[in-house]
Parts: sequence; C-alpha cells; structure tokens
Amino acid sequence: MIRKNIINFIPYKSARLLYKNDNITNHLVALNANESPIISSFSLNKKIFNRYPEPQPKELINLYSKYVNLNPENILITRGADEGIDLVMRTFCNPKKDKILFCPPTYDMYRVTAEILNIKYIKIDSNNNWELNLNKIKKNLNKIKIIYICNPNNPTGNYINQNDIIRLLKLTKNKTIIVIDEAYIEFCVDQTFSYLINKYHNLIILRTLSKAFALAGLRCGFILTNKNIIDVLLKVIAPYPIPAPVVDIAIQALNSKNLIIMKNNVKIIINNKKWLIKNLYKCNCIKNIFDSSTNFILVKFHNSEFIFKKLTKKKIIVRNQNHEKKLNNCLRITIGTFFECKKLFFELKQLSC
Ligand SMILES: *Cc1c(COP(=O)(O)O)cnc(C)c1O
Repeated sequence: MIRKNIINFIPYKSARLLYKNDNITNHLVALNANESPIISSFSLNKKIFNRYPEPQPKELINLYSKYVNLNPENILITRGADEGIDLVMRTFCNPKKDKILFCPPTYDMYRVTAEILNIKYIKIDSNNNWELNLNKIKKNLNKIKIIYICNPNNPTGNYINQNDIIRLLKLTKNKTIIVIDEAYIEFCVDQTFSYLINKYHNLIILRTLSKAFALAGLRCGFILTNKNIIDVLLKVIAPYPIPAPVVDIAIQALNSKNLIIMKNNVKIIINNKKWLIKNLYKCNCIKNIFDSSTNFILVKFHNSEFIFKKLTKKKIIVRNQNHEKKLNNCLRITIGTFFECKKLFFELKQLSC
C-alpha cells in the first residue's frame, strides 16, 4: 500500500541516527552535527498549556523582524529550516511534473524532501572551487520551479559568489523561485541576501535557531520573503505549527542580552576555528582544509576511513563525507569548544598515513 517513491527512496541520515548513542555523554566529543558546543540555559515563563498556541506568534515575529531588519509581514515561523524546505516545495511544485534544482555537494534535505513529495530534481554539480556552474544551470531551467542554494554551503563551508546569485535571481525572474538556505549566516553576516527580498520577488530565505543560536533542540526556524509569498505559504503550513514552549524560549533567545551572547559565541567559535586550522596543517594525515565561513570545516585526508575509525575509538565523532561525489577522503568536522579542538588536534597529530 506504500507509495512507490517512498519504498525506493534513501532517507536522510541524521548525525544522531548514524552514531547510535542516545545520550550525548560527557566523554563524547560530538563534532558531527554542526551544533553549537556552547550551552545556554533557559526556563519556561509560561506554565499553562491547555489552549492551542498562536499560529504565528506576534511577539516572536516582531523580535525576529528587528533582528533581521525587515518588516514583520516578511517573516514566517517554521519548525526549523527543514520545515521551510518542505513547505516551499509543497506550495510551488506539482508532483511528477515540476522539478527542483540544487548543486551538490550540498545539504541532502533538498533531495530527500523532493523524493518524499514525488517531485523531480536536477543536480548541477558545483565547480571545482565550489561555486555555481551558472552556464549549466542556465541550460537546465526548463520546468524548474525552485532552485535551492545553500549559502554558506554545507558541507563545503564556503559562501557562494554574490554576483552569481544576483545574476541567477535576474535570470529566473517570474519563472523560478530561488531559495537561499542561510542556516549558517551568523558566521558570515555580510553574505546575507535578506535585504533583497522586496527587490527580487522570486527570492525566499531560510533561517534557523539551530546553529549559531545554539538551539538545535528547540526546532525553530524562519522564512524571509515578500508578503505575497508569505500569504500563500500561510495557506499551506499547519494551523498551529509552533508549540508554545518553543515560542517562549525563542522569545528569550532573541532578547538584546542573549543576542549579544550569541554574537560573542560566534566570535569564540570563529577563533577556535582559526586556531584549529592553523594547527591541523601540522598533521601529516591531512591533505587539505577547505576555506570555511561556517562553524565547521571540510578536511581532506590521505585516508579518511582510517582517521574516522581512530577518532571514533577516541570518542570523537565527526561526519563522514567519503561516499559523496568529489568528497572522497573528506570528513566534515564541527568546531567545538577550545578544549575539544585541542583534543582533536592532539589525536590527529599522532596519526600519520
Ligand atoms: C542544519 C541545517 C538545516 C536544518 O535546520 P533546522 O532548523 O535544524 O531544521 C537546514 N539547512 C542547512 C544547510 C543545515 O545545515
């Protein structure tokens, strides 16, 4: 009775599923899910939950609108950026007919969501320096309803050339929606396209509290786009998508004091990253470290399988990318605390192969 596309499809492999350890213990150095290693503690202000929550809580919308310097009418709250990926696809694409386009190596949820919804997809590999292959994209725009661009990109860590994205926005005007997934934008704020949502009417931006805000467990994200698109998305999104406890904590996370803490934590992680990269170059087992504008680095080893196993034995868990096209012998490593970075360096320094 199951739909054929569901029977055949390969699901998303989350970091948590791949490493089957239910409790992230003190001994475990979890550098596999691009979470923040810096803990902030919250408690609920609201204590009564008998009523349904506000569908799109005004206070949270207003706070996020101030944070991104946009009007409240340009913001939609979602259950993480992942729901944003799904919501846009369900709103714009006719199953089996329309296609989406994305540029591997990139975030796997664009493929996963398309396969679940039975929407076709075209993959246009990025260039060797991980930039968009605009010429090839141009030739493949027929029947493409949405192009997903991850900026900065996961798992490569680079941001995409701004002029290329502008050219793409102009090229696809009135024909194709451009979704820019800005999950890591707090690590390179000047790369955001949020200020252009009312200039390019085909532009949608995805945001999340899961990465720089250190709230992956909260499941809260945002869509930024023009009011016309927001109104259509509101027809499709679930009636009460955001649980009241999530709203309660997201509101706290966006107050001025916590915004300062978040920005400071971003600086700490960027400093840890600089230290780690400088020191990893001393390790014989490493072939190359790709430039990163995020809270993770993509590292090419001489033998990633060997390194992955050795690190796992030492309870340092990283994300294997070896199976991905163009990423053979690559591991994606989240930037942890300074202690975790030192531990990682200490272990890798001893491994030569
Ligand atoms: C982590 C990540 C997401 C998922 O964000 P959630 O808000 O936790 O759903 C989306 N896009 C990219 C590129 C990510 O790395």
